Amino acid sequence: MALKVFNTLTRRKEEFKPLKGKKVNMFVCGPTVYDYSHIGHAKTYVQFDVIAKYLRYRGFNVFYLQNITDIDDKIIKRANENKEDPSKLAIKYEKEYDIDMKALGINSVNKYARATNYVKQIIKQIQTLFDKGYAYKTSDGVYFEIDKFKGYGKLSHQPMDKIKEGARVAVNEDKKNPSDFSLWKKEKIGEPSWRSPWGKGRPGWHIEDTAITETEFGPQYDLHGGAIDLIFPHHESEIAQMEASSGRKPLVKYWLHAAFLNIEKEKMAKSLGNFITIREALKKWDSKVLRYFYVSTHYRTPIDYSEKNIQHSKNSLERINEFIRKVSRANGKENKKVKNLIKKTKTAFEKHMDNDFDMPQAIAAVYSFIREVNKQDISKRNGEEIIVFLKKINSVLGFITFEKEKVSAEIKKLVEERENARKNKDWATADKVRDKLKKEGYYVDDTPQGPVIKKL
Ligand SMILES: [Zn+2]
Repeated sequence: MALKVFNTLTRRKEEFKPLKGKKVNMFVCGPTVYDYSHIGHAKTYVQFDVIAKYLRYRGFNVFYLQNITDIDDKIIKRANENKEDPSKLAIKYEKEYDIDMKALGINSVNKYARATNYVKQIIKQIQTLFDKGYAYKTSDGVYFEIDKFKGYGKLSHQPMDKIKEGARVAVNEDKKNPSDFSLWKKEKIGEPSWRSPWGKGRPGWHIEDTAITETEFGPQYDLHGGAIDLIFPHHESEIAQMEASSGRKPLVKYWLHAAFLNIEKEKMAKSLGNFITIREALKKWDSKVLRYFYVSTHYRTPIDYSEKNIQHSKNSLERINEFIRKVSRANGKENKKVKNLIKKTKTAFEKHMDNDFDMPQAIAAVYSFIREVNKQDISKRNGEEIIVFLKKINSVLGFITFEKEKVSAEIKKLVEERENARKNKDWATADKVRDKLKKEGYYVDDTPQGPVIKKL
C-alpha cells in the first residue's frame, strides 16, 4: 500500500515519494513570538506532529524543521507598547511556545530555526534575486516584482489579474505593482536593524522561510505544511522567491494545509472577544484531551472548539484509557483470536493513515478493536500484547495514558520537599533533593500543570 497525501499545489491526492529514498525534509511555519499562541495554532501543530510521527512510523527518515519568526512588525509593536526590548520579548514568548508544545505532547520537531540567526543567508538570497532581475529598491526597502515570476498564483490557484484585483491600494507609491511583496524593510528609528547592501533594515516575512529552508535543506525539499490561511500570500511568495533565485522547481514537492478552527461555530478573533490561548485551554482541559480533540478530526476539515465537543472528546478518550486499565489487569485464559485482531486493526490503522492521514478513521479502527476485545476472555499475555500494540499506535497519536509504575511514598515526599524549597526560593536545597531523586532514578518535569514525576 502506498501513502497518499493531498497536495495543495496540484489539488490531488498523490502518492508520497520523497526526493531521495526514505529521507523526508519537512518544514512547517512556526510562530511569530510576540504573545501566547492560541488554540488555532495548537490545531496545526498537533496535527503536523501526528503527520511527522506517522511518517516515521512508516519508516521514513524525517527531518522536521520549524522556523521561529523572532523579528516582525507585531513583535516591534508589542515591545514598544511594553517599553521592552523586542529581542527580549521574542525570547520570552519563544519559551512560552516551547512550554505549550511540550504540554501538548509535540516532540517531533528536530530543529527550531530563529529568523534572526539567518540574516546573512536572507541578504544573500535577496542579492541573488537582484542579480537575476526579480528585486527592486524603493524608498522604504526592497520588493519582489511578481510580474517577473511566471507562475505567481499557482499554489493558491489564482490568475494574476485576480491577485492584482485583490491587492489593497499600495501604501508605497514606488511599488511597481500593489501586490509586490517586501523582501527587505528599511530601518525606522528605534527598530532593530541589520546592515545590508540596501541600507540598514530588517527582513520581510516570506524571505525568512526560504533562507532557512535553503540553508538547511537546499533549494528543493519534500513537504511544507501550515495552516490554510498561509497559502496566500505567504507560501505563494516562498515559491516565487526560491524558484526565481535557484532556477529550480518545484521548491516543495508536497504542500499540506490544515483547515481552520472555529469557536462555537464562529471565527476566532481578538475583536470578537472569543480568543483563547493554549495556556488558558490547558487550565481547563487535560492536555491529552485537547490533543485527542485535535487528532480526532481530519486535518483538512475545520474543527469547532466548543465545551460540548471537548467534553465529548474527554468521554471518548476515557473509553480508551479504561480499556488500557482493564487489559493491564487481564487474568483469563489465553485467547488465540487476539493476535488476529491486533493484525487486523494494525492493517486498518495504516490503511486509513495512508489515505492522506485520515486520523478519525484510524481512531475508529481502535474503537472497533476495543469492542471486539471486550467480547473476549483474555490472558495476562494477551493483555501485554495489546498494550505493546497500542503503545506503537500511540507513538503516532500520543493521547493514550498507560498505567505507570507505582511511585513510592518516599519518592513522592522528596518531590514535595523539592517543591517547597522552590517555593521558598531555596535553590540549594531544591538542587540537593533533585540529586537525591536522580540517584533513585527519577526526575521532575515542571509542566504548566505542576510537577510531574518521571523515570530517568
Ligand atoms: Zn512561514
